[in-house]
Amino acid sequence: MTFDVNKIRNDFPILKQKINGKPLVYFDNAATSQKPQIVIDTLRKYYEEYNSNIHRGVHFLSAKATDRYEAARNRIKEFINADKSGEIIFTKGTTEAINLVASSYGEKFLKEGDEVIISEMEHHSNIVPWQLLRDKKKIVLKIIPVSDSGEIIFEEFEKLISKKTKFVSIVHISNSLGTINPVQEMIKVAHKHKIPVLVDGAQSVPHSQIDVRYLDCDFFAFSGHKVFGPTGIGVLYGKKEFLEKMPPYQGGGDMIKNVTFEKTTYNDLPYKFEAGTPNVAGVIGMGAAIDYINFVGMGNISAYEKELLKYATEKLTQIPELRIIGTAKRKASVISFLVGNIHPYDAGIILDQLGVAVRTGVHCTQPIIDRFKIPGTVRASFSFYNTKEEIDILEYGIKKVIKMLK
Ligand code: PMP
Repeated sequence: MTFDVNKIRNDFPILKQKINGKPLVYFDNAATSQKPQIVIDTLRKYYEEYNSNIHRGVHFLSAKATDRYEAARNRIKEFINADKSGEIIFTKGTTEAINLVASSYGEKFLKEGDEVIISEMEHHSNIVPWQLLRDKKKIVLKIIPVSDSGEIIFEEFEKLISKKTKFVSIVHISNSLGTINPVQEMIKVAHKHKIPVLVDGAQSVPHSQIDVRYLDCDFFAFSGHKVFGPTGIGVLYGKKEFLEKMPPYQGGGDMIKNVTFEKTTYNDLPYKFEAGTPNVAGVIGMGAAIDYINFVGMGNISAYEKELLKYATEKLTQIPELRIIGTAKRKASVISFLVGNIHPYDAGIILDQLGVAVRTGVHCTQPIIDRFKIPGTVRASFSFYNTKEEIDILEYGIKKVIKMLK
């Protein structure tokens, strides 16, 4: 389709409302994205017409729900170009996907003294699961430092790799800086040393075409709610060769083949990792979100967001009091900034009065915020339904913040 932002905006009912008497300007897309009508309708239709538990019913509704659930898995498999649908495991979100790997892979393959490499710009969800494993198994966490522009220092990454390195877990796009990391190059280096790599794709899937086979990552995690789907649903992609060897993450219904009190055998992939009644509506809703992205076209989305980022960066850098945190050469449509000595929270409150929704604080990435020795940032993150006019409103709002608080 040809990209027309006004038509796109019509698909998102939430954008039509006023906040504090002003049209909503939603710039908190890195926290969660808004939902197109088709996703809302799909969820509603599911609950109105065929809500049922899956995989275990012989009746019509259960068969239909199962069919739609597995069809969504297939569409997601195609969307990220995985090889097999068994490599697509549904989780609560990115956080649970990373916890699953740290817990299950860690349990089987990591032992005392083994090293896991992450970076200084990780989201807490790619730090804490490894710390939990460190406490449990006495592994060692190694941290790749980040430059003043907010980029991974590649040589330092290479230097960190040793015979003891057994896993690399790295964010694809930083939610607080917008940096696009060279994950493909990092994966190549890690694989030379036979080290598996997990990519945290929470921020890359909404903005770019992901091809897990091209990246050659061993694991890839992302969340439905950041890709215009429902909350409470996410995906762990894992290469079959790893997933097959990993123990279950949780025990319960659906993840088993046969249960006796003496011995239980586990189900095949992906069900081995999907214990209990899953988020059926969430999966089906996420499938609808993927259809919508495919309809708009990821190429169109990326190109338009690039334009928005360029426009916003040019506008905001003209404000002398404004300092952008994260000035990497390759960035997604995220601008984190500080205005003079004004606390990000105070700036956020004033912007909210103008109907502009931004995020303030450390964005669940405290170590990288500490590294810049700042209290946090104001973060404006754009999606393909945002407009240049909205960026003008942000600019106006920032100038107002300066006038009121300086
Ligand atoms: N990683 C990154 C880079 C993120 O931006 C987020 C969400 N802010 C997460 C992980 C965690 O995602 P979720 O809360 O959906 O599990």
